[in-house]
Amino acid sequence: MLTVLSGGTGSRKLIDGLVKIIPQKEINVIVNTADDIEIYGLYISPDVDSVIYTLAGIFDEERGWGIKNDTFNFHEMITRIVPTYSWFHIGDKDLAIHVLRTNLLKSGMKLTEVTKFLCEKLNIDCKIIPMTNDKVTTYIFDGIKKRHFQEFWVLHRGNMPIKSIIFDNIENATPSNEAVEAILKSKLIIIGPSNPITSINPILSLARMKDIIISSEAKKIAISPIVKGSPFSGPAAKLMESLGLEVSAYQVAKIYEDIIDVFIIDENENDDRFKELNIEIVKTNISLKTQEDRIRLAKFIVNNYYK
Ligand code: GDP
Repeated sequence: MLTVLSGGTGSRKLIDGLVKIIPQKEINVIVNTADDIEIYGLYISPDVDSVIYTLAGIFDEERGWGIKNDTFNFHEMITRIVPTYSWFHIGDKDLAIHVLRTNLLKSGMKLTEVTKFLCEKLNIDCKIIPMTNDKVTTYIFDGIKKRHFQEFWVLHRGNMPIKSIIFDNIENATPSNEAVEAILKSKLIIIGPSNPITSINPILSLARMKDIIISSEAKKIAISPIVKGSPFSGPAAKLMESLGLEVSAYQVAKIYEDIIDVFIIDENENDDRFKELNIEIVKTNISLKTQEDRIRLAKFIVNNYYK
């Protein structure tokens, strides 16, 4: 069994490759839930949904979110009446998932149980595991106002000053039991090429999470989301800069240094400082753009660290 720590974009692509190489039932995915948001009273879990849709074969690869060939009748109608969330598009098929999740949560099920139910119904054999059943929320503070991460990224496209990043309630949140079990039973733990600040950091900041990972007998690897000083996509650079961190694969390696054995960087990366770190640095092509890319990197990982 292997476990991937994931957000909703980079790691999702790696998982898309992994399922072509090994059986789904051998794969656990622990997913960030700090981006979760309530809109129109609906509980929306964007990273969990991106992983679910990918594994159900219905992810909209062109848009980079939601379900392919979805329609937006609900969105059109509701924003005609109340424009408050006109910036957050919810497709009609996507809406079905949010309505179901919200109702199941209201009936007393935990987020992990609801996710398991959705996976069963969508014929997904991978275990998709929300990182926690506790509420954790990422906010971006611009010095005047605190905004939900979705508002920062989707509405403002990241174009606002960042004074601080807040993971609300993280100090009281514990990893879900399923996440702990997955980590302790795995032969390989992969920190996917996700945003280290707002996707992986919330997972690693849960109570005892780092110690649980360290105590696992699994081989621990991470894949860089950054090549030659630039992320492939998303706000990682801006978020790292706001924390006074250099935007580099080396910096990401430093963030994970105390919990991983191997850090996978791009074959074109040249940085002598990697030698200072107490981890093995491995170079390969880490682009996950095409299906071939995803399968190639998944094969590389499975052949070197899982077989
Ligand atoms: P979010 O939940 O949407 O923020 O997504 P993630 O945190 O899972 O992923 C965002 C990160 O994925 C960014 O930092 C990107 O640099 C990284 N990423 C996107 N595409 C690729 C890719 O093709 N290869 C690699 N190595 N990283 C990627």
